[in-house]
This record gives sequence, structure tokens and C-alpha cells, in this order.
Amino acid sequence: MASPLAWNEVDPNARKWTDIAWDAFNEDRLTAKVQVSHAVMVSVLDGPCPRCNHRLSQRNLMTLVASLDPLETKGLDAATPQELAEVDFICDCSEEHAGRPKDVHSGCNTAFHLTVYIERS
Ligand SMILES: [Zn+2]
Ligand SMILES: [Zn+2]
Repeated sequence: MASPLAWNEVDPNARKWTDIAWDAFNEDRLTAKVQVSHAVMVSVLDGPCPRCNHRLSQRNLMTLVASLDPLETKGLDAATPQELAEVDFICDCSEEHAGRPKDVHSGCNTAFHLTVYIERS
């Protein structure tokens, strides 16, 4: 048995975490998207952390959308969701990782970045 991974002090922003997460996304082991509803934009992530492999299930408020008009004037058809958002995610698993600072209560200190579809409802 491998011992549990420690808090990531070495390469929390390494490109490889994004690559691993992207592979998981393409293999349907990870779900990531942005949902826009009533002018609220939320990023959604369900899947394994690319480093510690603990299950992540996140709903993060990204921003308030002041107006949807600029996107609508691009002529995008609601039936063909082609809008994309670039989203930064950070591991917030609920497992223990040795060396985690006392004021941090989740995660292994690993960030990754995905380009995901925007869903409107
Ligand atoms: Zn973890
Ligand atoms: Zn992690």
C-alpha cells in the first residue's frame, strides 16, 4: 500500500495536473461544465483530483453575469451550445494530506485548468 500523498508543496500548479484532468474529462471519468442560470454563473466539477485521486464534487460561484446580450448577439443558437469557458479548479477533497496548513481544511493543494462548455438554463 502506498502511503497517502502529502500536501503538495512541490508543483501545485504544474501543467501535468491539467493534462491528467483533461484525460479524465475525455474518458468520462470527470465531469466539468459551467452553468448559467438567472444571471448566476457556477462552475461544476465531479471527478477525481488529478493528483490525489480523491473524489471532488464542486459547485463554485464564478461571477454574476451583468448582461447576457453580448453573447446573444454573436448569434449562437441555444440548441447548439458552443460557448466555452476557461475555469481554474483547485482540489478541495475531504481527505487528510500530511503537511496541510492548519488554516486549510481541504484539498491536496493542486490546481488545474479546463476549458468547458457553458450550459444555459
Ligand atoms: Zn486528496
Ligand atoms: Zn487532490
